[in-house]
Amino acid sequence: MWDYLIKNGYVVDGTGAPWFKADLAIEGEKIAEINRRLPASKADMVLDAKGLVVSPGFIDMHSHAEIPFIAYPTGDSMIHQGVTTQFACQCGTSGSGPLKGAALEAIQRRVKLAHDIEVDWTTLAEYMARFERQGCSINGAFQAGHGTIRLCVLGWENRAPTKDELDEMKALVAQTMEEGAFGLSTGPMYTPGNYAETDELIELAKVAAMYGGIHTSHDRRRGWESDPRGGRDFITTTIDSEIWSIMEVIKIGEEAGLPTTWTHAKACGAVNWEKSLDQWFKIIDMARRRGVDVAIDVYPWTFRGGIVRGFPTWAEEGGPEKMRERLKDPEMYKKIRAYVKEMMETTLAEHTWDRALILTATEEDQDLVGKFMTEAAEIRGMEPVDLFLDRMKEDKELGGIGQAMHEEDVKALLKNPLSMVGTDGSPLPANYHMLVHPRNYGTFPKILRKYVRQERVLTLEDAIRKMTSAGATKLGLMDRGVLRPGFWADITVFDPLNVRERATYQDPIQLPEGIEYVFVNGTLTIEHDKHTGALAGIPLRHKIAED
Ligand SMILES: [Zn+2]
Repeated sequence: MWDYLIKNGYVVDGTGAPWFKADLAIEGEKIAEINRRLPASKADMVLDAKGLVVSPGFIDMHSHAEIPFIAYPTGDSMIHQGVTTQFACQCGTSGSGPLKGAALEAIQRRVKLAHDIEVDWTTLAEYMARFERQGCSINGAFQAGHGTIRLCVLGWENRAPTKDELDEMKALVAQTMEEGAFGLSTGPMYTPGNYAETDELIELAKVAAMYGGIHTSHDRRRGWESDPRGGRDFITTTIDSEIWSIMEVIKIGEEAGLPTTWTHAKACGAVNWEKSLDQWFKIIDMARRRGVDVAIDVYPWTFRGGIVRGFPTWAEEGGPEKMRERLKDPEMYKKIRAYVKEMMETTLAEHTWDRALILTATEEDQDLVGKFMTEAAEIRGMEPVDLFLDRMKEDKELGGIGQAMHEEDVKALLKNPLSMVGTDGSPLPANYHMLVHPRNYGTFPKILRKYVRQERVLTLEDAIRKMTSAGATKLGLMDRGVLRPGFWADITVFDPLNVRERATYQDPIQLPEGIEYVFVNGTLTIEHDKHTGALAGIPLRHKIAED
């Protein structure tokens, strides 16, 4: 007896093949049969999918889900989009471990700010045990984060590791890979990832390669800097030389010998809009032609997270507390202010103050929420840079999003044959108390509404491929992401004519419409847009080849 029979749907199997009409049977956790006609009498429960698309569950290739998985196990904002698996720990931060010293403190601080849970794990193995104990509606895949591992070993110190320290970092990558991580994520734009030269990242990526893992990277994207205090200078890049950052992502994959992903790929800043992507794509194609497995993932929004991009590297040394101390010193304040102004007001800007939208603020600044920085600054009678840094100094930081990308570039990234879909988001409750980027609630339905149905940037089949099998293959999950008998029954059934996101930049906490059924490992989790309460997700473990 089958548990479910999904009848009369348009099956889009995830491979990119054209849709075909068929019935699909689920037994236990797996897909039992797919055929043009299957007998209803053999199933306990029959779901009529007439007019609906039956697709593999969506795989979110860029997420920061590891803490929210624990804080909000029902994962409403993601499961309602049809997401059944999230690839977490991006941009060098792995909240799932390893955690000790400054890394543990940093995660605890983040958790205290936004979520009400106790961090009682220090390794990925302990984290997975907690995940399994609690249950979760979505499957999770995890990585070792370079930034987190650097914090474990070097704290917030801005220097190269000693030989012993590098060995200790490598051992932590090895341990995390053995515990089931899918690879190494790096974020050399962020502190402390930016304290690492490329060689350090390659050394750690080699360890992930040994275990058959992959590398994912937030590109470096930083400026030429000299430390006014006479400290370490940085030879890095600004957005007008982003090409160097992409070459670095490729180099790590090429020299460490593992697949590498330029993750949440974007052309930031007006200097790059509608002109730079062609060249960057060429470099990626050339790398693939010489055998480097490079891919990209992208989210379909022109706003990115964060109000300000770019603090001087030296100012962030020692962590957030030290940074606040420096802001309180008038001499240092002047220097940080000049740098931030340059990063927000010149051609080096990823986006300018008038494109930075405030979404979170403390009690006293609630009237600024929903305002752009220029308007907010006018209300307070200050320059935007001073408003922002003043609040930061008092640990009352303004949070939000900034329009750094151009719509035509978002389309080009979606169209690129190598791109997969990521949200850069988290599984959050339906009624989350804070405003966040709408990508958390609407990424996948937005692609299906806007870029498939209305603007025809992608065919339905190609969009589904980018949301399913492309990611599964990248992760080595060879029995997910495609609809085949014997594969895991992660399945999303949606109405192709009505599926839409409701989340907007100004009103982001809105679940989408048109996602009718979602199965996770064979368990019905969304039924007619409603959560069944099921927690059938599992922590996925990367399988290590054994000799
Ligand atoms: Zn990132």
